[in-house]
Amino acid sequence: MVVDLRSDTVTQPSAEMIRAMASAPLGDDVLGDDPTVKELESLAAAAMGKEAGLFVPSGTMGNQIALCVHCRPGDAVLFEEQAHMVWYEGGAPAVFAGVLTKTVPGTNGIMSLADIESRITRRNYHTPGTVLLCIENTHNRAGGAIVPPDLMEKYQTIATENAMATHLDGARIFNASVALGAPVQKLTKSVDTVNFCLSKALGAPVGSVLCGPAAFIEEAKYVRKRMGGGMRQSGILAAAGIYALEHNVDRLAEDHLRAKALGAGLAEIPGLSIQQEDIVTNFVMVDTVLPVTLWVEAISRHGVKAIAFGPHRVRLVLHYHIDDQAVAQCIDAFRTAASEIGA
Ligand SMILES: *Cc1c(COP(=O)(O)O)cnc(C)c1O
Repeated sequence: MVVDLRSDTVTQPSAEMIRAMASAPLGDDVLGDDPTVKELESLAAAAMGKEAGLFVPSGTMGNQIALCVHCRPGDAVLFEEQAHMVWYEGGAPAVFAGVLTKTVPGTNGIMSLADIESRITRRNYHTPGTVLLCIENTHNRAGGAIVPPDLMEKYQTIATENAMATHLDGARIFNASVALGAPVQKLTKSVDTVNFCLSKALGAPVGSVLCGPAAFIEEAKYVRKRMGGGMRQSGILAAAGIYALEHNVDRLAEDHLRAKALGAGLAEIPGLSIQQEDIVTNFVMVDTVLPVTLWVEAISRHGVKAIAFGPHRVRLVLHYHIDDQAVAQCIDAFRTAASEIGA
C-alpha cells in the first residue's frame, strides 16, 4: 500500500461523500439559484461566526479575493514572513490586488506585537497606507503551528488601533480549533474575514469558503466573477463541503494523535531529528542530517511519499487515509531507509 504523506490534499472523497454529491439539488450558481451552494455558504458563515460566505474554487482564490476587497492598489499589507500567501500563491498579491507585501519576522508562525507595530505606515505624501494584517492559522511552513486565541485578539487590537482590517488565512483553522478543544469561533471572532479550505484535512475534493460581513462578501462575489471563479452547478462540489463540515471535523483529533505517534517513532531513527513538542496538529516536520533528497527517494522505494521542505527537512502530513497501520509502515520505511543510505 502507498502511504501518501505529501499533503492532506491527496484524499479521495469517501463513498458517503460521493453519495451526498450525487443527490444534491443543483442550479446555476452564477444566476444565484444553486440551493446546495447557498446551504454550504450559510453553514460555513455560521460556523465562522460571520454574516456571509462565498464558495470559491481554491484557498488561493479566497485569499486573493480578500486582498482585492480589503485593499486598493499600492496599499501595504502585513504578512508573517513564512506565510502561504507570500510563498505559494504565485506572487498573486502583486498581480491581482496590486498591493505591497510587507513581511513581519515570526517564530513558529508567531509575530511579535512590536514587530507588527514597527512596520505599520500611515498613508502620507511618501508612504503607502498599511491597511490589512494577514494571519495564518494553523501555519503551514511553521509545521502546522497554532496561533493562540489570546494572541489573535491582540493582533486585532493593534489592527483596530491603526485603522487596519484583519484577514485570516485559515486553510486549516479547524485543525487549530480541534487541537485547542475550543470552538472555531474563538479563533475567527477576532478577524474581519477568514478563508478556510474544504479540500485540505476535511477531505472534500475541491473548494474553500471566504467568510465575512455581508457587504464584503457581496463585493467578493463580483471579484470572484472577474477572476473566472463564478461556477455553475457547483452544488455538486458544495455538497462534498457540507458533508465534510458535518462529518470530518471532530475526527481531525485522530490525525493529531497519529502525528504525535509518528513523530515519536521517527525520533528513534538515526539521522533524523524532530521537535516533538512542535507537533500540535497534523504535520510532522523532520530534519535530516544527510540531504533530504536521499531520504525522500529511499522511503519512496518503500511506498511512502513525502515532500522535501528545504535541503534538510521533510514534511509529513496526516489525513483521513492514514491509519495506525500506515503510520507503522512510514516508520518502518524510514528505518529501512536509514540503513540503506547509511544515516
Ligand atoms: C493550501 C493552503 C492555501 C491555499 O490553498 P489552495 O486551495 O491550494 O489554493 C492557503 N493557505 C494555506 C496556509 C494553505 O496551506
